[in-house]
Amino acid sequence: MENMNNIVIVGNGHAGIQLADSLRVEGHAGPITVIGEEPHAPYQRPPLSKDYMAAGKAPQPLPLRAGKFFADNDVDSRLGVCATAVDRDSRTVALDDGSRLAYSTLVLATGAANRELNVPGSTVGGIHGLRTLSDAEALHAGLDGARSVVVIGAGFIGMEFAAAARQRGLDVTVLESADRPMARALSPVMSAFFAGAHARTGVKLRFGEGIAAFEGRDGRVCGAVSTTGRVYPADLVLVGIGVVPRTELAASAGLAVDNGIIVDAGMRTADPAVFALGDCASYPSHHTGARTRLESIQNATDQARHTARSILGRSEGYAGLPWFWSQQGPLKLQIAGLGQHGDETVLRGDPASGRFSVFCYRNGELAAVESVNQPADHMAARRLLGQGRSISRQDAVNPDFDFKASSRAVPALT
Ligand code: FAD
Ligand code: NAP
Repeated sequence: MENMNNIVIVGNGHAGIQLADSLRVEGHAGPITVIGEEPHAPYQRPPLSKDYMAAGKAPQPLPLRAGKFFADNDVDSRLGVCATAVDRDSRTVALDDGSRLAYSTLVLATGAANRELNVPGSTVGGIHGLRTLSDAEALHAGLDGARSVVVIGAGFIGMEFAAAARQRGLDVTVLESADRPMARALSPVMSAFFAGAHARTGVKLRFGEGIAAFEGRDGRVCGAVSTTGRVYPADLVLVGIGVVPRTELAASAGLAVDNGIIVDAGMRTADPAVFALGDCASYPSHHTGARTRLESIQNATDQARHTARSILGRSEGYAGLPWFWSQQGPLKLQIAGLGQHGDETVLRGDPASGRFSVFCYRNGELAAVESVNQPADHMAARRLLGQGRSISRQDAVNPDFDFKASSRAVPALT
């Protein structure tokens, strides 16, 4: 087994499946087994809070790979099986079907789980989280008979779902303990734009109000009591208050965990036979100079491509530029870079036009660009930031400055 470099991947989400694919692309010829505890064939998560919810009839989930990918690439995909323990001495993984799998390389791509809300009434019917396809199916079914929806948390999940529920004509209230939406990811000016845009469609945004309790009738939710004591009618609730990385397997195997499984720039843990990537991994970021854990498709898939090379001994340090997107009704938000700790922002374009970008600076250097319905700005920002370059604030705000051409001024990195 050892000589065959038998690779076992725990987790068949965006990171795990891309890794299996990239290992074959990079020429790995040995066995690959992917373990996934969900019963479904691997699927794309992003549509679940967007088009899937806005549609009257629940659409088919989009697969992560065509069904024949697994046979064509000789990838052993085990569905509905949970990895319960790792024995690093014998290099085996225990599965909940009673079997054990031997590995020469183990990869933990276990993702994240929704943060639990523990207030009085949290267990009545009609209160949902949204992480998996099963969650989405239950939430979509609940939307059919609902009239008043309360969303707890104005993060990405909450705002995307609020837009979709509003598109379906429902009464939507969002409770958020912070003072603005998507505060963890966006500059204040971009948060303000989205708050205004949602309010204009009729979404009721309540900032500085957390959830204190739920009221129920006949076992179903009928109201949400906020931390101010106000009661909002609700026959359906979505809780979107963030996630926690799934680190339990790593921790019980004695691997270091600190807001994610600790890995180096090659996505390797302190055990050279064990790697971790995606939502569950804390890595040294080339872009922030600090240990970072990101929750995004770009992060999962770019780290997977990098991890494949790292496992096969062709690694340079991971340096993928973080980028994100969100679709909220007609608004497409795209973010290149990490702007949270920026100290200055300037606007390119007019928010009133619905097409503009926010350039976020940290210590005078461009750190991130947030764009609404401006894909050209986003792509130029990815090129520029990916090359470690900046542009001045004067150029950023100047409508005559050709940002796209400037970003192409030196050869693009792949
Ligand atoms: P996951 O995709 O969560 O996959 C991990 C898998 O591992 C899961 O299926 C889990 O069941 C399985 N697993 C865990 N432990 C075990 C075990 N012990 N045994 C077996 N299996 C196990 N990001 C964006 O960039 N843009 C978006 O628009 C966007 N929209 C999103 C919408 C929704 C509704 C959600 C939930 C997330 C969205 N995200 C988006 C975030 C993005 O989906 C995640 O960052 C990404 O899925 C992370 O990939 P991952 O493979 O690390 O984890
Ligand atoms: P999130 O972006 O972390 O947002 C959670 C929000 O809920 C935060 O604003 C948080 O505020 C707030 N909150 C926490 N506790 C609360 C409470 N008790 N009452 C009211 N508000 C509360 O996470 P999410 O929106 O739940 O998304 C879950 C995961 O899916 C994340 O990994 C996210 O990145 C991913 N996702 C991504 C996209 C995308 O990239 N387009 C779309 C959907 C989902 P504090 O920060 O102040 O705690």
